[in-house]
Amino acid sequence: MTTHTDLNQTLFERAKHVIPGGVNSPVRAFRAVGGTPRFISRAQGAYIWDANGQKYIDYIGSWGPMILGHGHPAVVEAVQKAVLEGFSYGAPTEREVELAEEILKIMPSMDMVRLVSSGTEAGMSAIRLARGATGRKTILKFEGCYHGHADALLVKAGSGLATFGNPTSAGVPPEVVQHTMVLEYNNVEQIEAAFAEHGQEIACIIIEPIAGNMNFVRASVPFMKRCRELCTANGALLILDEVMTGFRVALGGAQSVYAKAIPGFEPDITVMGKVIGGGMPLAAFGAKRAVMEHLAPLGGVYQAGTLSGNPIATACGLATLKEISKPGFYDELGRKTQSLISGLKSAAAAEGVAFSGDSQGGMMGFFLLDTLPSTYKEVMTTDGAKFNQLFHGLLDRGVYIAPALYEAGFVSAAHTDEDIAASVAAAHDIFKSL
Ligand code: PMP
Repeated sequence: MTTHTDLNQTLFERAKHVIPGGVNSPVRAFRAVGGTPRFISRAQGAYIWDANGQKYIDYIGSWGPMILGHGHPAVVEAVQKAVLEGFSYGAPTEREVELAEEILKIMPSMDMVRLVSSGTEAGMSAIRLARGATGRKTILKFEGCYHGHADALLVKAGSGLATFGNPTSAGVPPEVVQHTMVLEYNNVEQIEAAFAEHGQEIACIIIEPIAGNMNFVRASVPFMKRCRELCTANGALLILDEVMTGFRVALGGAQSVYAKAIPGFEPDITVMGKVIGGGMPLAAFGAKRAVMEHLAPLGGVYQAGTLSGNPIATACGLATLKEISKPGFYDELGRKTQSLISGLKSAAAAEGVAFSGDSQGGMMGFFLLDTLPSTYKEVMTTDGAKFNQLFHGLLDRGVYIAPALYEAGFVSAAHTDEDIAASVAAAHDIFKSL
């Protein structure tokens, strides 16, 4: 690196004049870790380059979508072809039908899907659908799970057990979240208490099956099983938010992972995003026919979108799904991700650094904690200053991980064993002084 002008800094100053905080999504601002966000000028394979021309091994992958790495040739070709046919029609296309069919083939818990443009839209619409289909108001979510920034979902736990929550954002009136209950993740007693008291009012549980918004925390099998049983027994719908895990932890998503441990396990509604768009704005939600027929124009639950099913986004998504459906794709991806986590664990152990980590498919998380946490509270016991030291140490050594300790990481098919080894070596170097 040369010592002259830092173009990231120059761009950040310019950005701050015209975009709040200089970013279009808060976590990008490096607020938690300090320092200057990298302004990315290009990406290829497992790498991204910033405005200074500095190269990084990318473990964010656009926060999940880039499972093939950046600029996969088959995806680029499909997008280039689609671009020449027009950007958007606001009318049905064969390609969106094809994408819907592909998704349904991969995730048999659904009979129908509706395509939208972001995970937020998909989550918000899934909640409305669950309320419309059940005729109930109450929704139940878990502390540490993120389902997009719809008003009713921006809620933190209130005080005491099984209480209705408080807004986590200014601009959300308490009345808007008065039907949202926030419980502790992995706490079976709390969901049982909530259903015992409010069972007939609960429209749905919404849950990240492997929570990627508190780093990487699995719903325990008994917890997930109890969520399913309580929903079924009380006429509530179980919504799995697979925006992050879908097509990422396994081809069939986290639901296919839990179905191995819980025979017959299926959600009622699945929320998807990220990988299904391959980096383009595309997300979806789906369910069995009887639930989906509540949606407009068939039913009374309204939902719409100017760019929904966009022809370029669907081309990108279809090409991505085609690649990830190839035999052995997840075995290889899972092996590489595991090797990164086990390499980091060994390096930390060698330097006496408290460390734990976990992964599934191409999604991973690690903690500067002795044992894996199972709740948001436990995740937040991580030493923030040490995480920041690790983050900046890695960044300085050309390894780009999420700039916050509560975010999951992602390995792509483009990462090589050499990339993994270089990343582990960089971390080892930092562990020496942690
Ligand atoms: N659900 C989950 C599990 C997510 O991780 C995210 C985004 N990180 C969302 C919903 C919201 O998706 P989007 O950012 O596309 O609105």
